[in-house]
Amino acid sequence: MSDKVDILGVGVDALTMDEAVARAERYMDEKACVMIATANAEMIMRATYDEELRSILNSAAMVVPDGAGTVWAAHHLGHEMPERVAGYDLAQELMRLAPARDRRIYFLGSAPGVAEKAKEKAEQLYPGIRIVGTHDGFFKDADVPQMIAEIREKAPDLLLAALGVPKQEKWLNAHKEDLGVPLSIGVGGTLDVMAGVMKRAPRWMQKAKLEWLFRGMLQPKRAGRLLALPKFVFKVHAYKKKR
Ligand code: UDP
Repeated sequence: MSDKVDILGVGVDALTMDEAVARAERYMDEKACVMIATANAEMIMRATYDEELRSILNSAAMVVPDGAGTVWAAHHLGHEMPERVAGYDLAQELMRLAPARDRRIYFLGSAPGVAEKAKEKAEQLYPGIRIVGTHDGFFKDADVPQMIAEIREKAPDLLLAALGVPKQEKWLNAHKEDLGVPLSIGVGGTLDVMAGVMKRAPRWMQKAKLEWLFRGMLQPKRAGRLLALPKFVFKVHAYKKKR
């Protein structure tokens, strides 16, 4: 078990990518029906005023530190946080291991056509992988029972949900019993990146902890959301003083 670090009221697991992968694999083996959340600064900021999201995160089986901001906050608050565990990378690791472990995977989310493209990419990257179904992320409430029935029928071990924050967390939580999937992960823009619809920051920017800046530049509609970052820094600082 890893230590939980309290960042603005959200418990984030202090663990390495290898540890996160090992736990995720165990959840699938145990058919645990649990969720993993991938917490970046923006998600944690949102959880400070969105109580439903905060309580979902705090009851998730694992909350990985997705983003340089999360790792920084843990360190600033005086805790160990060995490394960043990005949701995109965690999903890739689980897909890489999937053929040997005979895992069934379902892709839910993104614009129509994107999940199918991501499936093709996964099949190229990880020969033998079984992506047992896909569905886009722009559905109506009335479509949900049919979607759940399809997911149940395909019986994936792993459901990757790319519906954006907090929709993916709330949706997975609301339907976890009906879905009956051993492990679900909210993976944000992962399917878009795999399908080539969105670029991931180059390695050097990731290493320089500037992935957030890259995303803000590439998607001007996100630029306003960049403001969440300085707000996060101030809040974490105030949180430290208060304690
Ligand atoms: N998305 C979706 N359904 C929605 C809203 C968003 O499938 O109702 C998808 C969107 O197409 C994108 C992903 O969710 O592929 C992540 O969206 P965004 O980058 O806005 O969210 P983030 O996870 O960064 O907050």
